[in-house]
Amino acid sequence: MKIGVLGIQGAIQEHLSILRNAGVEPSWVKDRKELNSVEALVMPGGESTTMIKLLKRFEMWEALRNRIEDGMPVLATCAGMILLSKKIENVVNQDSLGVLDISVKRNGYGRQINSFEVDLQIDEIGPEPFRAVFIRAPKIESIGGEVRVLTSYDGSPVLVRQNNMLAASFHPELTGDLRIHRYFLKMVEAAGQSIEKCAE
Ligand code: GLN
Repeated sequence: MKIGVLGIQGAIQEHLSILRNAGVEPSWVKDRKELNSVEALVMPGGESTTMIKLLKRFEMWEALRNRIEDGMPVLATCAGMILLSKKIENVVNQDSLGVLDISVKRNGYGRQINSFEVDLQIDEIGPEPFRAVFIRAPKIESIGGEVRVLTSYDGSPVLVRQNNMLAASFHPELTGDLRIHRYFLKMVEAAGQSIEKCAE
């Protein structure tokens, strides 16, 4: 399984290390060639404006959109989720890939000082609560019909799925709980199998 972590800016090492703990050897994706060589991609949190700028400068922006539209499984966290979203409510002129049918409010839970942790119930990954860390997290304001809410906090979805995209407002790579990454790896496996079936 060839999983990449988008390694432009942000919480890259944390995702690489939790993926290793989950039993895969991820690669660090820094250019378009590497992007096109992976089977699935993790888009970490960080600073969305910086990521967008660099992805465009490295000519990865359109390639990233194309791969996601072609069905590459993606796990996007925090700033990664902002990049995927269809609409950013509170910032003018911030571009996004527009592939995930949600609208978000950047820093919707407050500033760095308002960072917090909370236990979430996520039935799809098991009965034990998942400790979620929110750091200047985007708040999902609305979702489209194709988007499935896997869990919410305080009335807003915080983990959503739309086909090949899994996106979290929080940072699942920070607590050592492997379950969200394992859930993603299952998505990748399932996508691989359906490609094999089509090729048969
Ligand atoms: N607030 C950041 C942004 O808008 C995201 C924060 C994060 O990824 N932890 O890009």
